[in-house]
Amino acid sequence: MTDISADSRGTARNPVAPGAGRTVASAVPQSLIARLARQVAAADDAPGVDTVAPLTGERLATLPQSSAEDVRDAFERARAAQREWAALPIGRRAAVLLRFHDLLLRRQDEVLDLIQAETGKARLHAFEEVMGAALAARHYGRGAGGYLRDRRRGGALPLLTHTVEGRRPKGVIGQISPWNYPLELSVSDALPAFVAGNAVVNKPDTQTALTALWARELLIEAGLPADLWQIVLGEGPVVGPLVVEHADYVSFTGSTRTGRDVAQRAAARLVGASLELGGKNALLVLADADLHKAAEGAVRACFSSAGQLCISIERIFVHRSVADAFLTAFAERTSALRLGGSLGYGADMGSLVSERQLENVTRHVDEAVKAGATVLAGGRARPDLGPLFYEPTVLDGVTPDMAVCTEETFGPVVSVYRFDTEEEAVAAANSTPYGLNSSIWTRDARRGRALAARLRTGTVNVNEAYAAAYGSVASPMGGMGQSGLGRRHGAEGILRFTEAQTIATQRLLPIAPALGLDDEKFAALLTRGLRALKAVGLK
Ligand code: NAD
Repeated sequence: MTDISADSRGTARNPVAPGAGRTVASAVPQSLIARLARQVAAADDAPGVDTVAPLTGERLATLPQSSAEDVRDAFERARAAQREWAALPIGRRAAVLLRFHDLLLRRQDEVLDLIQAETGKARLHAFEEVMGAALAARHYGRGAGGYLRDRRRGGALPLLTHTVEGRRPKGVIGQISPWNYPLELSVSDALPAFVAGNAVVNKPDTQTALTALWARELLIEAGLPADLWQIVLGEGPVVGPLVVEHADYVSFTGSTRTGRDVAQRAAARLVGASLELGGKNALLVLADADLHKAAEGAVRACFSSAGQLCISIERIFVHRSVADAFLTAFAERTSALRLGGSLGYGADMGSLVSERQLENVTRHVDEAVKAGATVLAGGRARPDLGPLFYEPTVLDGVTPDMAVCTEETFGPVVSVYRFDTEEEAVAAANSTPYGLNSSIWTRDARRGRALAARLRTGTVNVNEAYAAAYGSVASPMGGMGQSGLGRRHGAEGILRFTEAQTIATQRLLPIAPALGLDDEKFAALLTRGLRALKAVGLK
């Protein structure tokens, strides 16, 4: 464990945010926990598992764990509810999302407390989840009709073939989600699935299940039939595969390692899967960047949710001509971030979520320092604030043999590298097997967009950290390479939950010899017809 008794790494110690005086126990009473826990699809005598409030290390909740029968029953209930739901007009389904949007914004403080209690993140970062969920609810509430409506398509033979493409729900979606964005990642994929006519059986991480259960309760209040969203809980390697085994389609968010396992199980059953996985995201500071804005943006990019964000930046590439000025500004801002563990606004960064996360972050930093990296900011745990706090950390002099250079840290740690040419920066940014998100800072937005097209990541933010692309919910979001398969948001984010169906009606003449034509004459006539269709420019 890193020594915190002295500023052994020569960096300024992050200040402590003033506390708001509300404790986890008072904000999340046991009566609320008991009410939420009753929604878990589990038998009355199911074994319970304790969760811990990361901010204090206190026990938070005991949540029932679902058995194999519970999972099977949950799918059966979901399947029965789905049939009626799918028969409703899209407008009725979409209205539920729009009501959910309003309820969520009105009652956000309830869920902000839960998110903070379960994840330990700062309230501002918890609010990002409310914003993401509201954006998705509005977008799919308003846009589902357009995405899902029947579309006339060119027929096999113009005038003779009337062709329509329709969209049918997949059925029951198996959704597996991680602990890091418990509201956003339980809701933002479920909402398009619901409005497209599906049911969802969701397995959130037990650590953050209260938030998902709260969201379910709110969506039912907004009009969702209760059986349509089932929540099962349990050990990932045990209950996760059961969800995949019963699902008509799998929507998975989590690590690349688990994603590969989920994909193999889905492939064996020939059901589709979208996989939102890890990253080793890069931020580029070009020579013409506004360094003040770039430093502010880099702080947001690296330390939101204490870096436990899939689209968080873990590598910064800065043009050599501005490197000193940028790094001074960035390290100063990083060291000034206020750390805090109270429920309420005021802290710039909260705590990590678990002992496992703290160990991983500590290992990455300590090994890098031992191998010669320099700490420009942070670099140590802060047990004076809570059991799982770690300072936002900037490392210089990181080399490819260090784990922090290539592996996803998933914590508040970023390493900085210098470049001389854009070619070099693009090659370095693209040098990982991942391809989730990147960020470019420049005063020339056009140049930024041209450079963006050369980066192999599913989203690129020009002059913003991640929220510009992630929040653009009308446009797809997801990863290239080892960062995933498929996309959430936009058309792809809803159409993945549907099967395309082509209905073609043949009129007047069959697509076969007719009107006394023999086979050869029919083939000759169609050959002339095909040439003519190309000549008149038909697609
Ligand atoms: P994880 O893969 O360990 O767990 C994710 C979920 O899968 C959990 O609910 C877990 O219980 C379940 N699970 C575990 N083993 C399983 C198995 N064998 N089969 C089925 N399900 C299983 O990931 P994590 O540590 O909880 O989350 C952090 C990771 O998630 C990071 O790599 C992060 O980058 C990634 N992530 C990606 C996105 C994205 O949109 N691309 C968003 C958030 C997090």
